Amino acid sequence: MEVELTAPNGKTWKQPLGLFINNEFVKSSNEQTITSINPTTEEEICSVYAATESDVDSAVSAARKAFKNPTWKSLSGTERGALMLKLADLVSEHAETLATIETLDNGKPYTVALTENVPEVINVFRYYAGYADKNFGQVIDVGPAKFAYTIKEPLGVCGQIIPWNYPLDMAAWKLGPALCCGNTVVLKLAEQTPLSMLYLAKLIKEAGFPPGVVNIINGYGREAGAALVQHAGVDKIAFTGSTATGKEIMKMAAGTMKNITLETGGKSPLIVFEDADLELASTWAHIGIMSNQGQICTATSRILVQEGVYDRFVEEFKKKVKEISVVGDPFEEKTFQGPQVTQAQYERVMGFIQSGKEEGATLMLGGEAAPVNGKGWFVAPTVFTDVKVDMKIYREEIFGPCVAIVGFKTEEEAIEMANGTTYGLGSALFTRDLTRAHRVAREIEAGMVWINSSNDSDFRIPFGGVKQSGIGRELGEAGLAAYCNVKAVHVNMAA
Ligand code: NAD
Repeated sequence: MEVELTAPNGKTWKQPLGLFINNEFVKSSNEQTITSINPTTEEEICSVYAATESDVDSAVSAARKAFKNPTWKSLSGTERGALMLKLADLVSEHAETLATIETLDNGKPYTVALTENVPEVINVFRYYAGYADKNFGQVIDVGPAKFAYTIKEPLGVCGQIIPWNYPLDMAAWKLGPALCCGNTVVLKLAEQTPLSMLYLAKLIKEAGFPPGVVNIINGYGREAGAALVQHAGVDKIAFTGSTATGKEIMKMAAGTMKNITLETGGKSPLIVFEDADLELASTWAHIGIMSNQGQICTATSRILVQEGVYDRFVEEFKKKVKEISVVGDPFEEKTFQGPQVTQAQYERVMGFIQSGKEEGATLMLGGEAAPVNGKGWFVAPTVFTDVKVDMKIYREEIFGPCVAIVGFKTEEEAIEMANGTTYGLGSALFTRDLTRAHRVAREIEAGMVWINSSNDSDFRIPFGGVKQSGIGRELGEAGLAAYCNVKAVHVNMAA
């Protein structure tokens, strides 16, 4: 159920291949597998077992049993917090291995995996460990005839479905608050990138979580994912991924009226006003679209620039992309941008680039494949200018290192353009005018606004979208609301 792997950086580890159910790795019921491919070399890494509907059923049963078992149910918040802190410590000990696996399987730069993604997991687990004994109800004074109080109780078995762009972090964002509140979990990994979380599953057992509290399965969305969403034994579904799949999940979850949290797509605007610090704006605009190979739901993929500074901004931005966006082997220290995660994603991004060319936008930079040693799903960082608001590259989520720059005249026009989308996830604005910054921040239809930065994410601050970018919040104190019920108890004092 394990295979020994060695990465190009020399790191060797034992990679689990099974479904993690009841703290054990098991084969899938029909022994079907999915092969993980290294996007840098296009070579097979290994094959892992893929859950069938019946395997999902086993995982849900294990989670249900664990939810009722006093070894978990009777733990105090403090004890749950201690388990989570132990897990955070183990993640810290295994940081290099986890980062190596993430880079091998996903293609993101190793330095990013090691210095940003793994620390995020540790931070999220520690943050919610701290909340585990501080998330309690209230006594509500309604006069002497009655005593009323609330209890915050776990929802039960939580089904969690994550995407491939941040396998470790998306899992941590969901596991942290769920375990903090005393739920049990069946986590379905993205079929493209299952390896890092299967390795982390070993640490969950080592940390001392009772069997069945966390079950981690790999599998296809339409098979394992859909089975989880429709399962009558699952109380909640938390999903991160595309808007189209989010809508399907919402429909499927309606059958059993499940509690849902959805974090879906985006086409986030970044507005540069004439009084902005253009050096700052171009630096963050680059981070906002080119980080993580452009595979970020909050990527600021539409840059709106006020007419008076349009040309200067475009020049500054172009300079930044050329200087910083070094495309290469993700294990090389100087690499900023690795390959897209899969061939399918690569083709999808190239298709959008083609449509931008055909629809008449100006291709300012990139626009072609950028293989490394003749291999890999690399896309050159791509910048389109003179984009029109009806073009596909302006309207649809590309999920790659490709940005659309458009001009605007007035603040009103900028707000209208920013809001002229079905999405509402992130948004950024650059200005030195404090009043305008806060005025525009209020007008933008988005779950998050960055003033003079972009894609600034913090585990203490709520993350989520409005409109078709999602329902509910993750991270911060707000993230706890997605994982507990508030039960009201009325006591008649005159009895
Ligand atoms: P997806 O939304 O289809 O997949 C995300 C997760 O949902 C995976 O674990 C998948 O197995 C699961 N899933 C898929 N279909 C399901 C179903 N019917 N029922 C239950 N679970 C299901 O995304 P994708 O196909 O990997 O990528 C397509 C596009 O989605 C990307 O190009 C990008 O635009 C977007 N995307 C967004 C995010 C994000 O963070 N918002 C992440 C990944 C992809």
